[in-house]
Amino acid sequence: MIAGVDIGGTKIAVGIVDDDSKVLSRVETPTTECGVYNAGIAHVARMLREASRLAGVPLTGVGIGSTGWVYPFTGEFGDVDFFPGWKGCNPVKDLQREFGITVALENDGDASALGEAAWGAGKGKSQLIYVTVGTGIGGGIVLNGHLYRGADQGHPEIGHHVIDASATRCTCGFRGCWEALATGPAMAAWYNEQAATQAGAPSQLTAKQVFEKACAGDALARKAVDREHYYLGLGVANLINLWMPEMIVLGGSIMKSVQLDEVAKVVASGCRFVPYQSTKLAHASLGENANLIGAARVWHHRFGESARTAS
Ligand SMILES: [Zn+2]
Repeated sequence: MIAGVDIGGTKIAVGIVDDDSKVLSRVETPTTECGVYNAGIAHVARMLREASRLAGVPLTGVGIGSTGWVYPFTGEFGDVDFFPGWKGCNPVKDLQREFGITVALENDGDASALGEAAWGAGKGKSQLIYVTVGTGIGGGIVLNGHLYRGADQGHPEIGHHVIDASATRCTCGFRGCWEALATGPAMAAWYNEQAATQAGAPSQLTAKQVFEKACAGDALARKAVDREHYYLGLGVANLINLWMPEMIVLGGSIMKSVQLDEVAKVVASGCRFVPYQSTKLAHASLGENANLIGAARVWHHRFGESARTAS
C-alpha cells in the first residue's frame, strides 16, 4: 500500500495504491492552490493523511510523479513552468521528515512508463517506450523493468524531437517538434485555422470535437484526423528507428480517438531498415488513474522488490 502523488499542470492528485495497482482512495486539488511551496507542501501532506484515512491504511511509502524538470536522486524541483515557487525546494526531504517514511520522485512521464511496464499494457516487455499525448508529449523508457536514464541522470524528452523544421514554433525554441504537431491542441489549432479560412468565421473546436466531426463525414475534419495519424506515426517511426523497442504504449486523452492501425501504416511506409513489425503498438491500459498509479510505482521502482532485484 503505497501513496502516489501526481503533480500536473492543472491538478495535484493523491491516493493510496495497492500492490496490484488498485486505487483505494483518491483526493485532488487544483495545482494553483499549491503554488507557494511551504503552504503547498503542507496541503499535499494533509491530502496524504486524508487519502490514508479514506483507504483505512497507514502511510508506508510515497511515490511522486511530477511534470517538468525534477531531480530524482536529490528530490529537488528544477525549472517547472507552472510551479516557479517550487524551484530548488525539496518535497522528498520534507515529506520524509513529516512522515518518517521513504519518498521517491520521478518525472511524470517516467512514472507513468513505470506503471504501464509493471501493471499495464507493457507488463512483461523487456524494452518499453511509453508515450503520453496530452497538451504536450512526454514519456519514459523502461528497459528490463528499470528506467533508462541518460547522462547526469537526465530524462530524455521524446516530445521534442523535430518532425518538420519548417513548421510551428515549439515552447522549447525549435520549430516543428513532435509535441508542436501531434498533440490534441495542435490538431485542433490546425483544424480551426483551416475552417476559419474556408468559412470566414472563427472556429473553436476541440480535438475531440474534430474527431467526432470526422466520424460524421466532414471532409476537413477527416483531413485533420489523417494529419494527426500521420504526425503521430512519424514520431513513433522515429522511436522505432532509433530504439527498436519491443513495445510502444501510447496514452493520454487524445489516444482514445486515435486508431493505432493508421499509426502503424505510417511506420510501415518508412521503417524498412529495421524489423519494425517486431515493435508492438498498444494503447495504455491503466485508465484515468494512470498517472497516480505510475506515481505509486515510482516508490516500488526505487525501494521495493524490483529495486532489490536490480542489476
Ligand atoms: Zn520542442
